Amino acid sequence: MKIGYNGLAVPGPTNMPFQIRKAMDVALQDHRAPDFPEFTKPLFEDLKKVFKTETGRVFVYPCSGTGGWEAAITNTLSEGDKVLASVFGQFSLLWVDLCQRFGLEVDAIDVEWGKGVPLDEYREKLAADRNHEIKAVLATHNETATGVTSDIAGIRAILDDLGHPALLFVDGVSSVASIDFRMEEWGVDVIVSGSQKGFMMPTGLAVIGVSQKAIDMGPSAGLKRCFFDFRDMITTNDQGYFPYTPAATLLHGLRASIDMLMEEGLENVFARHHRLAGGVRAAVDAWGLRNCAQGPEWHSDTVTAILVPEGFDANDVIQTAYQKYNLSLGAGLNKVAGKVFRIGHLGWLNEIMVLQSLGGVEMALRDVGIPFEPGAGVGAAVKHFTETSSAMQLAAE
Ligand SMILES: *Cc1c(COP(=O)(O)O)cnc(C)c1O
Repeated sequence: MKIGYNGLAVPGPTNMPFQIRKAMDVALQDHRAPDFPEFTKPLFEDLKKVFKTETGRVFVYPCSGTGGWEAAITNTLSEGDKVLASVFGQFSLLWVDLCQRFGLEVDAIDVEWGKGVPLDEYREKLAADRNHEIKAVLATHNETATGVTSDIAGIRAILDDLGHPALLFVDGVSSVASIDFRMEEWGVDVIVSGSQKGFMMPTGLAVIGVSQKAIDMGPSAGLKRCFFDFRDMITTNDQGYFPYTPAATLLHGLRASIDMLMEEGLENVFARHHRLAGGVRAAVDAWGLRNCAQGPEWHSDTVTAILVPEGFDANDVIQTAYQKYNLSLGAGLNKVAGKVFRIGHLGWLNEIMVLQSLGGVEMALRDVGIPFEPGAGVGAAVKHFTETSSAMQLAAE
Protein backbone atom coordinates (compact mmCIF):
# COMPACT_ATOMS: atom_id res chain seq x y z
CA MET A 1 0.00 0.00 0.00
CA LYS A 2 1.26 3.45 -0.86
CA ILE A 3 0.61 6.18 1.64
CA GLY A 4 0.59 9.88 0.84
CA TYR A 5 0.58 11.66 -2.48
CA ASN A 6 2.39 10.24 -5.46
CA GLY A 7 5.17 12.68 -6.25
CA LEU A 8 4.34 13.41 -9.86
CA ALA A 9 7.63 14.66 -11.26
CA VAL A 10 7.18 13.49 -14.84
CA PRO A 11 7.08 16.20 -17.50
CA GLY A 12 3.40 15.60 -18.20
CA PRO A 13 0.86 14.83 -17.09
CA THR A 14 1.57 17.48 -14.49
CA ASN A 15 -0.08 18.20 -11.15
CA MET A 16 -3.69 19.24 -11.48
CA PRO A 17 -4.80 22.18 -9.32
CA PHE A 18 -7.89 21.70 -7.15
CA GLN A 19 -9.50 24.67 -8.93
CA ILE A 20 -9.34 22.83 -12.25
CA ARG A 21 -10.55 19.58 -10.76
CA LYS A 22 -13.51 21.38 -9.23
CA ALA A 23 -14.25 23.25 -12.44
CA MET A 24 -14.68 19.91 -14.21
CA ASP A 25 -17.07 18.54 -11.60
CA VAL A 26 -20.10 19.64 -13.58
CA ALA A 27 -23.12 17.92 -15.05
CA LEU A 28 -22.72 16.94 -18.68
CA GLN A 29 -24.26 19.56 -20.85
CA ASP A 30 -25.99 20.21 -24.13
CA HIS A 31 -23.29 21.34 -26.49
CA ARG A 32 -25.86 22.61 -28.98
CA ALA A 33 -27.67 24.75 -26.42
CA PRO A 34 -28.28 28.38 -27.39
CA ASP A 35 -26.10 29.64 -24.53
CA PHE A 36 -23.10 27.34 -25.24
CA PRO A 37 -21.33 30.03 -27.33
CA GLU A 38 -21.35 32.35 -24.31
CA PHE A 39 -18.93 29.85 -22.81
CA THR A 40 -16.86 28.94 -25.87
CA LYS A 41 -16.32 32.29 -27.56
CA PRO A 42 -14.48 33.96 -24.66
CA LEU A 43 -12.50 30.72 -24.26
CA PHE A 44 -11.20 30.97 -27.84
CA GLU A 45 -10.37 34.65 -27.32
CA ASP A 46 -8.48 34.05 -24.09
CA LEU A 47 -6.51 31.14 -25.57
CA LYS A 48 -5.20 33.59 -28.14
CA LYS A 49 -3.73 35.57 -25.24
CA VAL A 50 -1.93 32.47 -23.98
CA PHE A 51 -0.38 31.93 -27.43
CA LYS A 52 0.15 35.68 -27.81
CA THR A 53 -1.54 35.99 -31.15
CA GLU A 54 -3.89 38.67 -32.35
CA THR A 55 -4.32 37.74 -36.00
CA GLY A 56 -4.26 33.95 -35.58
CA ARG A 57 -6.96 31.52 -34.53
CA VAL A 58 -7.07 28.80 -31.94
CA PHE A 59 -8.50 25.30 -32.41
CA VAL A 60 -9.20 22.81 -29.65
CA TYR A 61 -9.43 19.14 -30.60
CA PRO A 62 -10.49 16.29 -28.33
CA CYS A 63 -7.23 14.33 -28.60
CA SER A 64 -3.68 14.37 -27.25
CA GLY A 65 -0.97 16.71 -28.52
CA THR A 66 0.06 14.34 -31.30
CA GLY A 67 -3.25 15.08 -33.02
CA GLY A 68 -2.19 18.71 -33.15
CA TRP A 69 0.85 17.72 -35.22
CA GLU A 70 -1.40 15.84 -37.62
CA ALA A 71 -3.73 18.84 -37.89
CA ALA A 72 -0.80 21.15 -38.68
CA ILE A 73 0.51 18.96 -41.50
CA THR A 74 -2.68 17.78 -43.15
CA ASN A 75 -4.31 21.21 -43.37
CA THR A 76 -1.40 22.89 -45.08
CA LEU A 77 0.73 20.48 -47.12
CA SER A 78 0.58 17.98 -49.97
CA GLU A 79 2.22 14.62 -50.50
CA GLY A 80 5.82 15.05 -51.63
CA ASP A 81 6.15 18.52 -50.15
CA LYS A 82 9.57 19.26 -48.70
CA VAL A 83 9.86 20.15 -45.04
CA LEU A 84 12.93 21.04 -43.03
CA ALA A 85 13.22 19.56 -39.55
CA SER A 86 15.77 18.58 -36.94
CA VAL A 87 15.91 15.61 -34.60
CA PHE A 88 17.45 15.82 -31.15
CA GLY A 89 15.13 13.77 -28.98
CA GLN A 90 12.18 11.41 -29.01
CA PHE A 91 9.54 14.09 -29.65
CA SER A 92 11.29 15.82 -32.52
CA LEU A 93 11.90 12.32 -33.90
CA LEU A 94 8.25 11.30 -33.69
CA TRP A 95 7.15 14.46 -35.45
CA VAL A 96 9.45 13.65 -38.37
CA ASP A 97 8.08 10.11 -38.40
CA LEU A 98 4.53 11.47 -38.61
CA CYS A 99 5.51 13.69 -41.56
CA GLN A 100 7.11 10.75 -43.34
CA ARG A 101 4.05 8.58 -42.84
CA PHE A 102 2.01 11.29 -44.54
CA GLY A 103 4.33 11.15 -47.55
CA LEU A 104 6.18 14.40 -46.97
CA GLU A 105 9.79 14.63 -48.03
CA VAL A 106 11.53 15.46 -44.79
CA ASP A 107 15.03 16.85 -44.63
CA ALA A 108 15.67 15.94 -41.00
CA ILE A 109 18.95 17.22 -39.63
CA ASP A 110 20.39 14.84 -37.06
CA VAL A 111 21.57 16.76 -34.03
CA GLU A 112 23.39 15.40 -31.04
CA TRP A 113 20.85 14.73 -28.26
CA GLY A 114 21.45 17.48 -25.71
CA LYS A 115 21.43 20.29 -28.24
CA GLY A 116 18.50 21.85 -30.07
CA VAL A 117 17.47 23.38 -33.38
CA PRO A 118 20.70 24.03 -35.35
CA LEU A 119 20.15 27.59 -36.55
CA ASP A 120 23.26 27.69 -38.73
CA GLU A 121 22.24 24.58 -40.62
CA TYR A 122 18.68 25.85 -40.99
CA ARG A 123 20.10 29.03 -42.48
CA GLU A 124 22.33 27.12 -44.90
CA LYS A 125 19.54 24.83 -46.10
CA LEU A 126 17.06 27.67 -46.48
CA ALA A 127 19.57 29.91 -48.24
CA ALA A 128 20.37 27.10 -50.69
CA ASP A 129 16.67 26.61 -51.40
CA ARG A 130 16.38 29.38 -53.98
CA ASN A 131 13.25 27.95 -55.61
CA HIS A 132 11.48 27.83 -52.27
CA GLU A 133 10.79 24.12 -52.42
CA ILE A 134 10.82 23.88 -48.64
CA LYS A 135 7.19 24.43 -47.74
CA ALA A 136 7.49 24.24 -43.96
CA VAL A 137 10.12 24.46 -41.26
CA LEU A 138 9.56 22.40 -38.12
CA ALA A 139 10.93 23.11 -34.69
CA THR A 140 10.40 21.46 -31.33
CA HIS A 141 10.46 24.43 -28.97
CA ASN A 142 11.11 22.33 -25.91
CA GLU A 143 12.44 18.79 -26.44
CA THR A 144 10.94 17.01 -23.45
CA ALA A 145 13.13 13.93 -23.84
CA THR A 146 16.38 15.80 -23.23
CA GLY A 147 15.30 19.02 -21.49
CA VAL A 148 16.43 21.26 -24.34
CA THR A 149 14.81 24.55 -25.35
CA SER A 150 15.41 26.02 -28.80
CA ASP A 151 15.39 29.54 -30.18
CA ILE A 152 12.20 30.00 -32.19
CA ALA A 153 12.69 33.75 -32.67
CA GLY A 154 16.04 32.85 -34.24
CA ILE A 155 14.34 30.72 -36.90
CA ARG A 156 11.91 33.51 -37.71
CA ALA A 157 14.83 35.91 -38.06
CA ILE A 158 16.50 33.57 -40.58
CA LEU A 159 13.31 33.14 -42.64
CA ASP A 160 12.76 36.90 -42.70
CA ASP A 161 16.38 37.63 -43.47
CA LEU A 162 16.31 35.31 -46.47
CA GLY A 163 12.80 36.30 -47.51
CA HIS A 164 11.89 32.61 -47.41
CA PRO A 165 8.12 32.02 -47.44
CA ALA A 166 8.10 28.59 -45.72
CA LEU A 167 5.55 28.05 -42.97
CA LEU A 168 6.94 27.82 -39.44
CA PHE A 169 5.51 24.96 -37.35
CA VAL A 170 6.37 24.73 -33.68
CA ASP A 171 5.82 21.92 -31.21
CA GLY A 172 5.11 23.75 -27.98
CA VAL A 173 3.53 20.86 -26.10
CA SER A 174 5.92 21.23 -23.17
CA SER A 175 6.58 24.95 -23.47
CA VAL A 176 3.27 26.76 -23.97
CA ALA A 177 1.97 28.27 -20.73
CA SER A 178 5.25 27.64 -18.93
CA ILE A 179 8.06 29.04 -21.11
CA ASP A 180 7.88 32.35 -23.00
CA PHE A 181 6.20 31.79 -26.34
CA ARG A 182 5.10 34.51 -28.77
CA MET A 183 3.14 33.32 -31.75
CA GLU A 184 2.54 36.72 -33.34
CA GLU A 185 5.96 38.24 -32.73
CA TRP A 186 7.82 35.11 -33.85
CA GLY A 187 5.63 34.65 -36.92
CA VAL A 188 4.67 31.10 -36.02
CA ASP A 189 2.15 29.55 -38.42
CA VAL A 190 1.10 26.57 -36.33
CA ILE A 191 1.84 26.14 -32.64
CA VAL A 192 0.88 22.78 -31.15
CA SER A 193 0.21 22.24 -27.47
CA GLY A 194 -1.67 19.79 -25.29
CA SER A 195 -3.72 20.00 -22.13
CA GLN A 196 -1.65 17.83 -19.80
CA LYS A 197 1.50 19.92 -19.47
CA GLY A 198 1.56 23.71 -18.98
CA PHE A 199 -2.23 23.82 -18.91
CA MET A 200 -2.20 21.60 -15.77
CA MET A 201 -5.10 19.51 -17.07
CA PRO A 202 -5.86 15.88 -17.78
CA THR A 203 -4.74 14.62 -21.18
CA GLY A 204 -7.35 14.92 -23.86
CA LEU A 205 -7.14 18.27 -25.61
CA ALA A 206 -4.83 19.35 -28.39
CA VAL A 207 -4.80 23.13 -28.32
CA ILE A 208 -3.28 24.70 -31.39
CA GLY A 209 -2.75 28.21 -32.68
CA VAL A 210 -2.91 28.76 -36.44
CA SER A 211 -1.98 31.80 -38.53
CA GLN A 212 -4.13 33.14 -41.35
CA LYS A 213 -1.30 32.17 -43.73
CA ALA A 214 -1.62 28.53 -42.62
CA ILE A 215 -5.42 28.64 -42.91
CA ASP A 216 -5.10 30.05 -46.43
CA MET A 217 -3.14 26.92 -47.43
CA GLY A 218 -6.31 24.85 -46.89
CA PRO A 219 -7.73 24.81 -50.41
CA SER A 220 -4.39 23.83 -51.99
CA ALA A 221 -3.31 21.34 -49.32
CA GLY A 222 -3.50 17.91 -50.90
CA LEU A 223 -3.19 15.75 -47.81
CA LYS A 224 -6.40 13.97 -46.80
CA ARG A 225 -8.09 15.08 -43.62
CA CYS A 226 -11.48 14.93 -42.03
CA PHE A 227 -11.47 15.01 -38.22
CA PHE A 228 -8.79 17.69 -38.22
CA ASP A 229 -10.05 19.88 -41.06
CA PHE A 230 -9.65 23.53 -40.08
CA ARG A 231 -12.52 24.47 -42.39
CA ASP A 232 -15.10 22.50 -40.39
CA MET A 233 -13.70 23.99 -37.19
CA ILE A 234 -13.88 27.53 -38.55
CA THR A 235 -17.49 27.38 -39.73
CA THR A 236 -18.72 25.90 -36.45
CA ASN A 237 -16.35 27.71 -34.05
CA ASP A 238 -17.41 31.05 -35.53
CA GLN A 239 -20.87 30.29 -34.17
CA GLY A 240 -19.46 29.06 -30.85
CA TYR A 241 -19.95 25.38 -31.68
CA PHE A 242 -17.88 22.40 -32.88
CA PRO A 243 -18.14 20.08 -35.88
CA TYR A 244 -18.54 17.14 -33.48
CA THR A 245 -19.19 16.60 -29.78
CA PRO A 246 -16.65 18.72 -27.92
CA ALA A 247 -15.00 17.50 -24.72
CA ALA A 248 -17.08 20.07 -22.83
CA THR A 249 -16.04 18.82 -19.40
CA LEU A 250 -12.39 19.33 -20.28
CA LEU A 251 -13.23 22.72 -21.74
CA HIS A 252 -14.45 23.75 -18.29
CA GLY A 253 -11.08 22.68 -16.90
CA LEU A 254 -9.38 24.66 -19.64
CA ARG A 255 -11.43 27.72 -18.67
CA ALA A 256 -10.21 27.39 -15.08
CA SER A 257 -6.65 26.82 -16.30
CA ILE A 258 -6.64 29.99 -18.39
CA ASP A 259 -8.15 31.93 -15.50
CA MET A 260 -5.35 30.75 -13.22
CA LEU A 261 -2.66 31.59 -15.79
CA MET A 262 -4.15 35.05 -16.30
CA GLU A 263 -4.51 35.69 -12.59
CA GLU A 264 -0.86 34.84 -11.95
CA GLY A 265 0.13 36.64 -15.13
CA LEU A 266 1.94 34.83 -17.95
CA GLU A 267 5.20 36.67 -17.28
CA ASN A 268 5.03 35.57 -13.64
CA VAL A 269 4.31 32.00 -14.73
CA PHE A 270 7.45 32.04 -16.89
CA ALA A 271 9.54 33.61 -14.10
CA ARG A 272 8.31 30.98 -11.63
CA HIS A 273 9.29 28.17 -13.98
CA HIS A 274 12.69 29.74 -14.50
CA ARG A 275 13.29 30.01 -10.79
CA LEU A 276 12.14 26.44 -10.03
CA ALA A 277 14.28 25.11 -12.87
CA GLY A 278 17.24 27.00 -11.45
CA GLY A 279 16.82 25.08 -8.20
CA VAL A 280 16.81 21.75 -10.01
CA ARG A 281 19.89 22.68 -12.03
CA ALA A 282 21.69 23.76 -8.87
CA ALA A 283 20.89 20.35 -7.37
CA VAL A 284 22.23 18.51 -10.41
CA ASP A 285 25.51 20.42 -10.16
CA ALA A 286 25.75 19.74 -6.44
CA TRP A 287 25.24 16.01 -7.01
CA GLY A 288 28.17 16.12 -9.41
CA LEU A 289 25.93 14.85 -12.21
CA ARG A 290 25.57 16.19 -15.73
CA ASN A 291 22.59 17.85 -17.34
CA CYS A 292 21.78 16.21 -20.68
CA ALA A 293 21.30 19.72 -22.13
CA GLN A 294 24.78 20.71 -23.25
CA GLY A 295 25.02 24.24 -21.96
CA PRO A 296 22.93 27.07 -20.53
CA GLU A 297 21.65 28.20 -23.93
CA TRP A 298 19.77 24.88 -24.19
CA HIS A 299 18.55 24.61 -20.58
CA SER A 300 14.84 23.95 -20.33
CA ASP A 301 12.77 25.59 -17.64
CA THR A 302 10.16 22.82 -17.72
CA VAL A 303 12.14 19.57 -17.61
CA THR A 304 15.67 18.52 -16.73
CA ALA A 305 17.18 15.28 -18.03
CA ILE A 306 20.00 14.10 -15.81
CA LEU A 307 22.74 11.74 -16.94
CA VAL A 308 23.74 9.00 -14.53
CA PRO A 309 27.46 8.16 -14.30
CA GLU A 310 28.94 5.39 -16.51
CA GLY A 311 28.20 1.97 -15.12
CA PHE A 312 24.81 2.90 -13.66
CA ASP A 313 21.36 2.37 -15.13
CA ALA A 314 19.04 5.37 -14.91
CA ASN A 315 16.09 2.97 -14.92
CA ASP A 316 17.22 1.67 -11.51
CA VAL A 317 16.93 5.20 -10.16
CA ILE A 318 13.46 5.59 -11.67
CA GLN A 319 12.27 2.17 -10.43
CA THR A 320 13.60 2.74 -6.93
CA ALA A 321 12.08 6.22 -6.73
CA TYR A 322 8.70 4.82 -7.71
CA GLN A 323 8.68 1.57 -5.77
CA LYS A 324 10.24 2.78 -2.55
CA TYR A 325 9.35 6.45 -2.37
CA ASN A 326 6.22 6.82 -4.52
CA LEU A 327 7.97 9.36 -6.73
CA SER A 328 7.40 9.30 -10.48
CA LEU A 329 10.37 10.45 -12.55
CA GLY A 330 10.55 10.62 -16.34
CA ALA A 331 12.37 7.78 -18.10
CA GLY A 332 15.04 8.12 -20.75
CA LEU A 333 13.53 7.53 -24.18
CA ASN A 334 15.15 5.89 -27.19
CA LYS A 335 18.84 6.89 -27.51
CA VAL A 336 19.05 8.08 -23.91
CA ALA A 337 17.16 5.13 -22.39
CA GLY A 338 18.98 3.96 -19.27
CA LYS A 339 21.25 6.99 -19.46
CA VAL A 340 19.00 9.71 -18.10
CA PHE A 341 16.19 10.20 -15.67
CA ARG A 342 14.05 13.29 -15.98
CA ILE A 343 12.56 15.65 -13.47
CA GLY A 344 9.53 17.50 -14.76
CA HIS A 345 9.18 20.94 -13.22
CA LEU A 346 6.24 22.50 -14.97
CA GLY A 347 2.67 23.33 -14.27
CA TRP A 348 1.13 23.78 -10.87
CA LEU A 349 4.32 23.71 -8.84
CA ASN A 350 6.11 25.60 -6.08
CA GLU A 351 9.45 25.43 -4.29
CA ILE A 352 8.48 22.80 -1.74
CA MET A 353 7.08 20.50 -4.40
CA VAL A 354 10.42 20.73 -6.22
CA LEU A 355 12.30 20.07 -2.98
CA GLN A 356 10.15 16.99 -2.42
CA SER A 357 11.18 15.61 -5.81
CA LEU A 358 14.84 16.42 -5.20
CA GLY A 359 14.69 14.70 -1.81
CA GLY A 360 13.15 11.63 -3.39
CA VAL A 361 15.80 11.60 -6.09
CA GLU A 362 18.53 11.77 -3.43
CA MET A 363 17.15 8.72 -1.64
CA ALA A 364 16.91 6.77 -4.90
CA LEU A 365 20.42 7.82 -5.99
CA ARG A 366 21.78 6.63 -2.65
CA ASP A 367 19.94 3.34 -2.87
CA VAL A 368 21.44 2.53 -6.25
CA GLY A 369 24.89 3.53 -5.05
CA ILE A 370 25.58 6.68 -7.04
CA PRO A 371 28.07 8.61 -4.91
CA PHE A 372 27.23 12.11 -3.68
CA GLU A 373 26.84 13.90 -0.35
CA PRO A 374 23.24 13.39 0.89
CA GLY A 375 21.48 16.73 1.11
CA ALA A 376 23.87 18.37 -1.35
CA GLY A 377 21.26 18.78 -4.09
CA VAL A 378 18.41 19.69 -1.78
CA GLY A 379 20.70 22.16 -0.02
CA ALA A 380 21.76 23.77 -3.29
CA ALA A 381 18.12 24.20 -4.27
CA VAL A 382 17.24 25.63 -0.85
CA LYS A 383 20.06 28.12 -1.33
CA HIS A 384 18.88 28.97 -4.81
CA PHE A 385 15.30 29.49 -3.72
CA THR A 386 16.17 31.61 -0.70
CA GLU A 387 18.77 33.70 -2.51
CA THR A 388 16.73 34.51 -5.61
CA SER A 389 13.64 36.69 -5.66
CA SER A 390 10.22 35.15 -5.73
CA ALA A 391 8.54 34.74 -9.09
CA MET A 392 6.39 37.81 -8.52
CA GLN A 393 9.40 39.98 -7.72
CA LEU A 394 11.38 38.66 -10.68
CA ALA A 395 8.60 39.51 -13.07
CA ALA A 396 8.22 43.01 -11.60
CA GLU A 397 11.90 43.78 -12.15
C1 LIG B 1 4.22 15.36 -24.59
C2 LIG B 1 4.78 15.85 -25.86
C3 LIG B 1 4.24 15.49 -27.10
C4 LIG B 1 3.19 14.44 -27.26
O1 LIG B 1 1.98 14.85 -26.83
P1 LIG B 1 0.86 13.78 -26.53
O2 LIG B 1 -0.12 14.62 -25.79
O3 LIG B 1 1.46 12.69 -25.71
O4 LIG B 1 0.34 13.31 -27.83
C5 LIG B 1 4.77 16.05 -28.23
N1 LIG B 1 5.79 16.90 -28.17
C6 LIG B 1 6.35 17.26 -27.02
C7 LIG B 1 7.49 18.20 -27.03
C8 LIG B 1 5.88 16.74 -25.82
O5 LIG B 1 6.44 17.09 -24.67
